Amino acid sequence: MQPFSYKKAGGADNAVALVSPQEQAAYLAGGTSLIDLMKLNVQTPQQLVDINPLPLSKIEMHNNGVRIGAMARNSDVAYDAMIRERYPVLSEALLSGASPQLRNMASVGGNLLQRTRCYYFRDTAFPCNKRVPGSGCPAIEGHNRIHAILGGSDRCIATHPSDMAVAMVALDAVVQIRGSKGERSVPLVDFHLLPGETPERETVLQHGELIVAVDLPGSPFARRSHYLKVRDRASYAFAMASVATALDIQNGIIRSARIALGGVGTKPWRAYAAEKLLVNKPANEATFQAAANAAVAGSKPQKYNGFKVELTKRTIVRALFTVGGMA
Ligand SMILES: Cc1cc2nc3c(=O)[nH]c(=O)nc-3n(C[C@H](O)[C@H](O)[C@H](O)COP(=O)(O)OP(=O)(O)OC[C@H]3O[C@@H](n4cnc5c(N)ncnc54)[C@H](O)[C@@H]3O)c2cc1C
Ligand code: SF4
Repeated sequence: MQPFSYKKAGGADNAVALVSPQEQAAYLAGGTSLIDLMKLNVQTPQQLVDINPLPLSKIEMHNNGVRIGAMARNSDVAYDAMIRERYPVLSEALLSGASPQLRNMASVGGNLLQRTRCYYFRDTAFPCNKRVPGSGCPAIEGHNRIHAILGGSDRCIATHPSDMAVAMVALDAVVQIRGSKGERSVPLVDFHLLPGETPERETVLQHGELIVAVDLPGSPFARRSHYLKVRDRASYAFAMASVATALDIQNGIIRSARIALGGVGTKPWRAYAAEKLLVNKPANEATFQAAANAAVAGSKPQKYNGFKVELTKRTIVRALFTVGGMA
């Protein structure tokens, strides 16, 4: 690990003022992602600004929905009574991630900004366009079983690893950001970027901008929602494919639908085409299958991850059966 200095932030504006002017400064939240990557010399900030003292951990009613502070711990969000009742998909997604100890430390802001688990990215002995722009992508010709089938480019095919973000994308979450020029809001679906030509740019966040909260809009039909994660081990493993879904069904007809995918996209993946196919259709197997086919249309599997196409379809159908109360 490279040497670094450490400061505690005195407030949100103070945190922004400490990080913004220094390209080599970074916020420290739970540290469960950042410290790992510092130990591997993948990230080498010279200055850490600890945001744990900031009063950003509330989970509260806001504009008919819920505002979750950026420093709310993953376990506190997962077990919050309001979240469990109004957005079960979010609680289930959080509880499917990592381990209890990690969830007790991991924060909402840090979870959104965790880096990919692509093994070439995490091993500095390999080139990697995301870590060193222009150096190449060994995953494309290499071992790519865990990589993305949706949203990749010829520069990078790494998946986004977060479960929480997949549920939040399905719920139309909005990220609240504070920077040296003031505050701004970004819909989560626009927050993460596709790799394109610049895989090193992962989000719209500018250096020094601080995530202060995530807002979930009031959505009565999100009460009927579900997160299904398929992985190599029953626990403590990242998704091979996951589905966050919510359905509004009236008299057997689907009135609105949300589907987002994890483990298969280069960012938390909102499956708009699949949602469109579900609306005004009867809630039955044929409809669910059509939606699943639409969700993976245009996917680009690599040599070792072709299984993800069928796996994703089956995971979608199973999640829809469950959320539709037909499982
Ligand atoms: C063994 C292991 C297994 C895991 N399994 C899963 C899993 O199955 N599913 C899953 O989703 N995740 C999993 N994780 C990832 C875990 O959820 C993340 O490490 C965690 O959510 C990151 O949050 P943190 O608060 O610790 O972030 P940190 O490590 O403190 O920060 C991460 C990044 O975010 C930046 N940052 C943090 N907060 C803010 C903010 N408010 N504003 C701006 N920048 C900020 C930091 O500067 C840093 O760059 C796993 C992690 C480990 C180590
Ligand atoms: S897939 Fe992306 S993160 Fe992985 S080696 Fe290629 S460029 Fe790096």
